[in-house]
Amino acid sequence: MEGINISTKLFAAINKQIGFELYSGYLYKSMAIYCKLNNFKGMASWLNMQAHEENEHAEKMMEHLIDRGYKVVLPKIDEPPSNFKSVTEIFEKAFEHEKHVTANIHKLYKLAVAEEDYPGQIMLQWFIKEQVEEEANAGEIVDKLKMINGNLGAIFMLDHQLGMRK
Ligand code: MG
Repeated sequence: MEGINISTKLFAAINKQIGFELYSGYLYKSMAIYCKLNNFKGMASWLNMQAHEENEHAEKMMEHLIDRGYKVVLPKIDEPPSNFKSVTEIFEKAFEHEKHVTANIHKLYKLAVAEEDYPGQIMLQWFIKEQVEEEANAGEIVDKLKMINGNLGAIFMLDHQLGMRK
């Protein structure tokens, strides 16, 4: 199967994004560690689930490339930040990160269109839709933390709510 209908430029770009999705998982894991260490167990649980989802995103892209005969080479994953000042900072960073992911996905889609790669477009459409959700979820938490404005009681209520994520 190797070498059949390979649009190398697009596939190489998706392969690079696999590394970024794995990095996203790593980043959320690092954030979860901070939360757990500081007794925000609900937020830690939310972030751990998010980390797990990122690994699934990477898996989805891997499967697509492998199914199409492309030899995926796992890229080096950067070390995520481990020093955070507050949970507000964490979710602001998560929101910014998701916007970055969205921009990457849109670039990949643009490339898939330019290369007339239809299966790639369909695979990426799933991610375009997923990113709308990801940004909405992170954005909602940032908005709530802004409203709460450092009120510890309210932060723990939000922590409890985020811990209910299934
Ligand atoms: Mg992702």
